Amino acid sequence: MYDVIIIGAGVTGSYAAGELARLGYHVCVLEKQQQPGLKTSCTGIISRECLEMLEIDHSLIQNQARSARIFAPSGKYLRIEREDAQAYILDRPGLDRLMAHKAQQKGAEFHFSTPVTAIRHENRHVTVEATAIQSETALFKARCVIIACGAAVGLAQSAGLGRIREFAHGAQAQVECTDVSEVEIYSGITTAPGFFAWLVPAGGKQGKAGLLCRGNPRPYLTALLDRLLKQNRITSITSDIRYGSIPLKPLSRTYSDRLLVIGDAAGQVKPTSGGGIYFGILCAQQAVLILDECLKSGELSSDKLSQYQKRWHKLLKRELSIDYWAYRFYQGLDDKQVDHIFNIIVKHGIHESLLTSPDITFDWHSMVILDAIRHRSLQRSLEKLKAAPLRFLEARIRPRG
Ligand SMILES: Cc1cc2nc3c(=O)[nH]c(=O)nc-3n(C[C@H](O)[C@H](O)[C@H](O)COP(=O)(O)OP(=O)(O)OC[C@H]3O[C@@H](n4cnc5c(N)ncnc54)[C@H](O)[C@@H]3O)c2cc1C
Repeated sequence: MYDVIIIGAGVTGSYAAGELARLGYHVCVLEKQQQPGLKTSCTGIISRECLEMLEIDHSLIQNQARSARIFAPSGKYLRIEREDAQAYILDRPGLDRLMAHKAQQKGAEFHFSTPVTAIRHENRHVTVEATAIQSETALFKARCVIIACGAAVGLAQSAGLGRIREFAHGAQAQVECTDVSEVEIYSGITTAPGFFAWLVPAGGKQGKAGLLCRGNPRPYLTALLDRLLKQNRITSITSDIRYGSIPLKPLSRTYSDRLLVIGDAAGQVKPTSGGGIYFGILCAQQAVLILDECLKSGELSSDKLSQYQKRWHKLLKRELSIDYWAYRFYQGLDDKQVDHIFNIIVKHGIHESLLTSPDITFDWHSMVILDAIRHRSLQRSLEKLKAAPLRFLEARIRPRG
């Protein structure tokens, strides 16, 4: 009998496993792949705050970013730059491996090649059913369970927690670049409908080319890679294409008796950028705090564990909802409208004034979104769009006090 079973050895699952093991709990992690990070399509860009929080080895850092070029559909671009590094590009499979290794060192037990198929609530514990070696069913018992299985929705749904229905779909490949020295972001309906594509320098000549979009990302990534090859921006594709999805809205309920949901499985991801590592870890921290209290008192009822959702909502709910409506606004625009807004931003130097604002951070986007739409020159042209998401955002602007 374990204290906690964690389903998924991704970054949030292994982080929670390490913290709970550090507190002295008997923790078991069940992971369907043979090793951590095997199938990840994630770019691995995180902020300094996140880097410090994860306490990771700097050898995982492939590059730092203090500037970026953002391309409009027309091909025009604006460059944003700050003095200090704003983001760190990590060896992402390496991050999953390291987090799992750190958790193991603290005493957590890991079972790989063990996909979980069902969670059963018993009277005083939870039984987790998994397919183990040679397709045999293995049963694991624990006082409680954390679902940290990423964008896979089945387990949370079968636990009666509902289902996330809105996703963006992503794909990425490793590439060799010619002279890409800063992060490049490409927008446009033919490039990445509803989202954006990127080329990220990952140290030396290495890079990561990828995108998030609505629908199937494969044809868009193929087209992007072809274009970058023709432009001689990249010279070769050095890996398979990896695919993944990100939830755009949180799961409505992230707890029940003896059970919590964290990370992508709970929808703790920024719908503006698709970044989920930082928010997932913030929520994993809350999950660990609550479980520690509840395991100590022996009260693991849905009622007691609902505190987890209250706490993470307090941290992120407003932020995620503003980000979501900003995403909705953006994905409703056609290329002409994006170009128009882009031109206004450049003409009035809105990006420059936002860059000097203390509100702009790599992880928290809501303030900068609201600051941008408050901008007079932008407001005039946004008025014409009369979009419902915009009305939602405008209603959230608080007067400066
Ligand atoms: C293309 C793309 C690019 C991205 N780039 C960034 C970025 O630059 N920065 C950033 O912060 N975020 C990025 N993200 C998001 C980020 O990858 C996720 O938010 C983050 O990985 C979430 O961590 P997690 O632990 O919740 O889930 P995951 O990392 O998905 O881990 C879940 C684990 O659970 C395992 N699993 C699933 N089902 C089962 C099961 N039934 N039984 C056992 N194990 C199971 C999986 O194999 C996996 O190992 C990106 C996402 C995509 C798709």
